[in-house]
Amino acid sequence: MAEIAAFLAGFERFRERYFNSGDESVFERLRQGQSPRALVISCCDSRADPGMLLGAGPGDIFVVRNVANLVPPYSDSAELPGIRADIEFAVKGLNVERIIVLGHSGCGGIGALMDGEGVTESRFEFIGAWVSIARAARERVLREMAGESRAVQRKACEQGAIALSLENLRTFPWVRERVDAGTLTLDGWYFDMDAGELLGYSAETGGFAALVGRAGGSNSGQWSVVSEKQEQTTARATANTEILASPE
Ligand SMILES: [Zn+2]
Repeated sequence: MAEIAAFLAGFERFRERYFNSGDESVFERLRQGQSPRALVISCCDSRADPGMLLGAGPGDIFVVRNVANLVPPYSDSAELPGIRADIEFAVKGLNVERIIVLGHSGCGGIGALMDGEGVTESRFEFIGAWVSIARAARERVLREMAGESRAVQRKACEQGAIALSLENLRTFPWVRERVDAGTLTLDGWYFDMDAGELLGYSAETGGFAALVGRAGGSNSGQWSVVSEKQEQTTARATANTEILASPE
């Protein structure tokens, strides 16, 4: 199959670069162990590969990918921990200094969330329950942006879900401790593939603004769902309560 040949050729190029010439020293060092600078939690979407988007080389970023780049709140229940184990290893095992939740426009997972459980459950067995982690973001968008188009609502939900995942990260005691001690930073980033921009979440404004914008572009932050800190705090309390009561 043509795509298999392309994948194997891709590995040939990788080997040429890192094992046969050029950056051979990279794996001489990495064979001893990894110490990535950041944990990146991103979507499974084939268009939003964090290594590709951020220009990361081998050993640079520890990546966890799931549908819609969601972080559930902390739980110490006996259920399989899933992404909680990934976060634990990155934070306690690798001592990453930064966690980046990287969302993107056109997210199918958030689209499923916005469609609602009835629509999603008719097609998928697990997706609806998983994306319900961000149910509070959906409800907020529907409540506060009722008159907006579906596309605008979806984009707001994609960004609101990132903010919610950042709040959920803070429910992990060892994440919160390190953030409060200043040894761990939490970032929310959004790859807007419509505009070709990378936006960052600001806890100060509760909105997103361009980190890497386009010359002349002026649409940064227009999708902000949270406009005031007070509102954000209220939403956080509501969100966490609702999510803790929801299935994953
Ligand atoms: Zn996605």
